[in-house]
Amino acid sequence: MLSLKLPRLFTINQVPKVYHEDSIIFGYRHPRSSAKDCIISVFQLTNETLNIWTHFLPTWYFLWNLLAVLYTLDVWNDAFSWPLIVFLVSCCIYPFTSSCAHTFSTMSPRARHICFFFDYGALSLYSLGSAISYSAYVIPDQWINSTFHHCYVPIAVFNTIVCTGLACFSRLGIPFVHYNHDVVERFPELERPKLSKALRTLAFAYPYMFDNIPLFYRIFLCSGEGCTDNETNALHYRHTALAFLTCFLFTTHLPERLAPGSFDFFGHSHQLFHICAVIGTHFQMKAIMLDKTLRRGWLMSHAPAITFTGTIAAVLACVTFNLCMILAFSLATCWKPDCSKKLKQEKATTTLYNQKAL
Ligand SMILES: [Zn+2]
Repeated sequence: MLSLKLPRLFTINQVPKVYHEDSIIFGYRHPRSSAKDCIISVFQLTNETLNIWTHFLPTWYFLWNLLAVLYTLDVWNDAFSWPLIVFLVSCCIYPFTSSCAHTFSTMSPRARHICFFFDYGALSLYSLGSAISYSAYVIPDQWINSTFHHCYVPIAVFNTIVCTGLACFSRLGIPFVHYNHDVVERFPELERPKLSKALRTLAFAYPYMFDNIPLFYRIFLCSGEGCTDNETNALHYRHTALAFLTCFLFTTHLPERLAPGSFDFFGHSHQLFHICAVIGTHFQMKAIMLDKTLRRGWLMSHAPAITFTGTIAAVLACVTFNLCMILAFSLATCWKPDCSKKLKQEKATTTLYNQKAL
């Protein structure tokens, strides 16, 4: 009879510190899982299972929305739809990368770092996708053609580099300088978890706040004419509220902190954080689509033309910069410093000393 033996699960004290999750006591996978075991674990109840599914299923929802838009719009000839396409592509990539990172992160400590380096890169891309679509459809009438509007996307591209770099740095420090295959000299997340977490939160909060400057101005501060006070604002309030809830869950580790061990499989903060992020992205997508439809006529005649450089090329630049950075942070985890010269020098000194002693 065919029987499938599921990989064994471990308690927090049975796995290396690098795998520890705050207030999660049981349900850890083997710290050196094979790729096959990682894939099997997707269908096994572990403390990562819902982290994987809460981002894997939404990937298909956003992909379906992307395909629907590609099918209904003449994207080659309608440059006005490019920012929406860019945003939807980023909405497919970030949950997919995250679900892959959660699936394969227990292959080894090195694999875990690399998996989450890619996760941070995908989040940066999503942040840029949001900025490009906000620049095209969401920015209030008053700010169209302002200096801020012209600088907004280039700064957002720059922010993706800062964001990915800082998030990767928060795990191990500067590649090759602070860590290599054998050594970690800088604060790793193990010894200074609070500093590490604070840096990572900053790495995502800062580009989020920057991207949302035009939206926050529009829905919270603007008064009088040119504030673009239309029916989309209700959707913008919803995704903004969910973004703050997402940040709250990420930083507080609630509810598992209140009852360690009670939320190992269901209901811990990382699962809730994924769910809130995805629902928030859903409302954000709806808001962007509605603003695009409602404001199309006005924006086509008043806003600067949407260009290849400001949309697709900006994304390609972001992908290139971020991949190079992830490569540098990842290569350092494999790199072994050449100790042969140092050894030879030490050997020569010892021989000289021995000769003198004789
Ligand atoms: Zn996650």
